[in-house]
Amino acid sequence: MKLLEYEAKHLINEHNIPVPSSFIVSPAADPEFLPAVIKSQVPTGGRGKAGGIAVVDSEKQYADAVERISQLQIKGFTPKTLLAEELVMIDKEFYLSLLIDTSAASIVLMAHKNGGVEVEENQAEDFFRRPISADTAETVADELADYFDLPDKSFVLQDLVEALFRCFCANDATLLELNPLIYTRDGKFVAGDCKMELDDAAAFRHPEWQFEQAKAEVNFVALDQNGTVATIANGAGLAMATVDAVADAGMTPANFLDIGGGANEASVLAAFERIVAFPSVKVIIINIFAGITRCDEIARAVIAAKSQITNLPPAYIRLAGTNFEQAVDILTDAGIPTLATLEECIQRAVKEVSHE
Ligand code: GDP
Ligand code: MN
Repeated sequence: MKLLEYEAKHLINEHNIPVPSSFIVSPAADPEFLPAVIKSQVPTGGRGKAGGIAVVDSEKQYADAVERISQLQIKGFTPKTLLAEELVMIDKEFYLSLLIDTSAASIVLMAHKNGGVEVEENQAEDFFRRPISADTAETVADELADYFDLPDKSFVLQDLVEALFRCFCANDATLLELNPLIYTRDGKFVAGDCKMELDDAAAFRHPEWQFEQAKAEVNFVALDQNGTVATIANGAGLAMATVDAVADAGMTPANFLDIGGGANEASVLAAFERIVAFPSVKVIIINIFAGITRCDEIARAVIAAKSQITNLPPAYIRLAGTNFEQAVDILTDAGIPTLATLEECIQRAVKEVSHE
């Protein structure tokens, strides 16, 4: 699960990693301070280059930037939240991250002297890269201080790296990235940006995880803008089989969509919203074999979609697996039939599509 910048910064700040002071933009209220940096909270990088970050120093500029950025789509995402931060005076922008190297069965620290929006220009082999553990964090931080050409900041970096490591472990993170880690003109480090990904498999021991993003990442591929049949399935194999079945029946699949293993009501609802963006879709086929996913969650999402999305095309639903009976009860109560097999869904879809 990917966190938004403000959520990730909240977690690192709990571990005493410095972040700029900030407030969440509220359209009705005046800014808490100016100048400020307005930042779109979308789960993707490259916001700066896409126009999703603006420095403002008057009420007028603030209002204009809020208006513009809240409507700005970045890589398919429109923000629900805007973050406003104090303007930090930058001397240097570094890259610093912790991630899991599965082949080495270790957490790895990566860093680069040239961080910021152009970090991808750097060669992969040029990154500072060290396996790191609670025992070696201090040594790694010393080496990092030398690498950054800031040997006198060794103690500060020790605290920072140890705090990052503790934060990473305590939150079952799979990625924690500061880019840029800002070195300010008055010689301090502050997290300019923070990207964090958490391990969905650890959700059971984190009842406190309440984030904007749906727990599961949906894997959506647009296939044909003129497609008449949209598909929602879980697991890449089942999703492909569903798309194939649609095509074999002579219809045009609009999309491939794998809602993943831990799909919940929010992520399924998000899937529906992407599908209705296709103008020609006449039918939605939902094909779920639930293991970790629960059929009742899917059922609730279908009902929520029906009530929230106007002109939702008819959906033919085949469910099997965990909490199947509950799901059928929920859907039947709402007057939505479920079908026993994918073949039945396809037959109904063929009728619906040729009807038009
Ligand atoms: P990203 O483009 O999605 O990675 O968003 P970032 O949060 O990393 O911001 C992109 C760039 O905007 C940074 O590398 C900085 O150069 C600039 N930036 C962000 N916040 C500040 C700030 O407080 N002060 C200044 N001067 N620049 C900022
Ligand atoms: Mn960044």
